[in-house]
Amino acid sequence: MNTQDYIALESQYNAKNYKPLDVVLERGEGIWVWDVDGKKYLDFLSAYSAVNQGHAHPTILQAMIDQASRLPLTSRAFRNNQLPLLAKELCELTGYQRMLPMNSGAEAVETAIKMARKWGYKVKCVPEGAAEIIVCAGNFQGRTTTIIGFSDEAQYRDGFGPFTPGFVTVPYGDADALERAITPNTVAFMVEPIQGEGGVIVPPPGYLKRARELCTQHNVLLIADEIQTGLGRTGKLFASQWDEVRADVITVGKALSGGFYPVSAVLADDPIISVFKPGDHGSTFGGNPLGAAVARAAIRVLVEENMIENAREQGDYLIGRLSRIESQHIQEVRGRGLLIGVELKPEAGGARRFCEALKEEGLLCKETHDNVIRFAPPLVITRADIDGAMDKIEKVLMMD
Ligand SMILES: *Cc1c(COP(=O)(O)O)cnc(C)c1O
Repeated sequence: MNTQDYIALESQYNAKNYKPLDVVLERGEGIWVWDVDGKKYLDFLSAYSAVNQGHAHPTILQAMIDQASRLPLTSRAFRNNQLPLLAKELCELTGYQRMLPMNSGAEAVETAIKMARKWGYKVKCVPEGAAEIIVCAGNFQGRTTTIIGFSDEAQYRDGFGPFTPGFVTVPYGDADALERAITPNTVAFMVEPIQGEGGVIVPPPGYLKRARELCTQHNVLLIADEIQTGLGRTGKLFASQWDEVRADVITVGKALSGGFYPVSAVLADDPIISVFKPGDHGSTFGGNPLGAAVARAAIRVLVEENMIENAREQGDYLIGRLSRIESQHIQEVRGRGLLIGVELKPEAGGARRFCEALKEEGLLCKETHDNVIRFAPPLVITRADIDGAMDKIEKVLMMD
C-alpha cells in the first residue's frame, strides 16, 4: 500500500475530525520520520511537543519494552512498583510535594479544575456552587466539554453546549484585567505561560510575575498549564521559570512520556493537592506501571542528556536565523527556546500553503491559527540539523 491507499482508507472509515497533511508516516528516529513511500522528513512539530526527546528514544523504548513484558496495568485498586518511583522522581525534579497521575493533557487540566474548586470550598471557604476560575482569551487546554466551554474559539464550541459554568475570561497578557476580574469567589487563575495553540503568543515580560503577586495577594491559586511549554520545550524545565514564577499547581503531559504513551500529571503541594481523599477522583489507566516506567525514563533522559539546555541554545540560534530571513511574507518571529511561531502577513495567503510546500521540501510542520507557522523540533536537534532545515525554510518563505 502507498500513501494514496492509506489516505483513501482513512477517509472512508475514520471520523473526519482532523485535516492532516497528506503524509503517511511509518517510522521515526530522533528528529527524523519516514513515510510509507520511503521519503525522509525533519519533524518540526514533535507531535505538539509530545516528542521533545526525539522519536523512538532508545532508553525510553527499552523501559517501555521491559515494563510491557512484565506488567502493563494494575488499576489503582492495587499498588504497583513503578508509580511510587515516578512520583518521587517527578516531585524531586520539579520541587512539588505531590503529583496526581492521569493520561491525556485534558484530563490533567480537568483534575486541576476539580482540585481548585474543592480547595476553594474546603480551604478558602467559598460558598458552595459559587467558585470562579479565571482563564485567558485565546486559551487551548484540551477538548473535553468543560474545557471547550471556556474556549473562545468558535469552532471548538459550536454544537457542543450547554457548557460548564464558573469560568471567567480575561485578555491574555493583561495583568490589570486579571486584577479587575478577581472576586472573593475566585479560586484560581489558569494560564499557559506561552499560548501554544493560540499562535505561540509570548506574554509581555513580567506578566506572570504580576499574576503571581495578584494570586498570592487575593488567595487565588495560580495554575500554570505547562502541558506544551513544560519539560524543556522553552529552554527551562517550565516556561513559568522565565518569569521566576512558581505556580501553585502545574499540569504536565505530552513530553512526560516522550511520545510513547499518554501520561499526564498535576503537581502541587499540600494542602492544595490533599483536598482529594480516597474515592474523590481517579482513572483506570492513570498511574499505571507501563506509563509510569515510560515517564520515569522520559524525564531521566531529558535531564541526563541536557535536552533543556540544548533547547535554549538551539532555540536562540533558530530564532536568530528565522529573524534574519528577508521574506515579504513574514510579519513577526517570536518564541522561546524551541517553541517558535512565524506569523505571516495577512496578504501571504495563509500558513497552510507554506506548510504544504515545506512538506514537499522534506520538513514537517503545522499551521496554528491561519497565519502562524509553528516550529517546534525535538529538543535533541543540533546546529547542523538547523542549518539544513533553514535551507528549506528560507527557500519556501521566499516563494511568491
Ligand atoms: C495539548 C494541550 C492540552 C491537551 O492535551 P491532550 O493530551 O491533547 O488532551 C492542554 N493544554 C495545553 C497547553 C496543550 O498544549
